[in-house]
Amino acid sequence: MNPKTKSGYVSIVGKTNAGKSTLLNNILGQKIAITSRKPQTTRHRFLGIKTENLNQIIFVDTPGFHSGQKRALNRYMNKVASNAMRGVDIVLYVVDSLKWGEEDFSRVQSISEETTIILVVNKVDKLEDKNLLLPFIEERNKEDIFSNIIPISALKDIGIDDLLNSICNKLPEGDHLYPEDQVTDISEKFLASEIIREKCINRLGDELPYRISISIERFSELNGITHIDSAIFVEKQSQKGMLIGKSGSQLKAIGTSSRKELEKLLDTKVMLKTWVKVKSGWSDNESLLPSMGYDLDK
Ligand code: GDP
Ligand code: MG
Repeated sequence: MNPKTKSGYVSIVGKTNAGKSTLLNNILGQKIAITSRKPQTTRHRFLGIKTENLNQIIFVDTPGFHSGQKRALNRYMNKVASNAMRGVDIVLYVVDSLKWGEEDFSRVQSISEETTIILVVNKVDKLEDKNLLLPFIEERNKEDIFSNIIPISALKDIGIDDLLNSICNKLPEGDHLYPEDQVTDISEKFLASEIIREKCINRLGDELPYRISISIERFSELNGITHIDSAIFVEKQSQKGMLIGKSGSQLKAIGTSSRKELEKLLDTKVMLKTWVKVKSGWSDNESLLPSMGYDLDK
């Protein structure tokens, strides 16, 4: 083993909408995680790998903690988020500016004492009164939980270098676990389903995003064109109507913006077919979740 190389797992956790996925995309300099202001945007756990000189940081992006455990899918996401706080070297606990509550406190307290916890105070760009930042940091310091407290803006690119330096300082020595040029463990096929889900979320009302799941039924490259056939699952006939829109206009717009982004990401031409299917009550049915791609054992 080369004693100078460092490598470790760093989980990004926190409430939904804190900016975890935006932070990961910023650090990696490319989009691997979809983002939106709506909850449930991130449903899975996946890796983002940054290798720079001797350091390899393996980030784990997670679904945010969802308050209330009402639906099976919410319970699944909370489980994925809690699991991600175990067995890692560092936890980045991300909060939306100065929002800090009892729930946050008990979550960070439940993390093993062997794990380094860094508090990431995100969205400082939108803080109206910057004078509140220092007292907030002092209060959290008193709690004696965090090795560092770093104010950042993932969106406006503030404080990211400080954060990376703090992570690298705490990273254990060890061989790199992934090839230097690997950025993520997600497949292009999975990324395609996520991009389509993001476009649906962005174009639809607040309730519908919870009911949507994407299944990629074909993903193949032929003569420089990537052919993607994708089924969009909803739970009710009325939701199907909303998704398709007047004379198919909504679905067409979702398809066009998905295709454009996929062409950029995959660097090929893309032929995208989408259609909508109804699968009644899938998001609250434990036994249907694995077949929809939500499987804790995977
Ligand atoms: P996640 O649920 O924690 O993964 O949050 P996302 O990364 O999906 O971001 C949630 C929303 O917050 C999106 O609309 C982002 O554009 C926004 N956001 C993320 N970081 C910042 C930031 O530093 N400043 C501001 N003003 N907005 C941000
Ligand atoms: Mg996210």
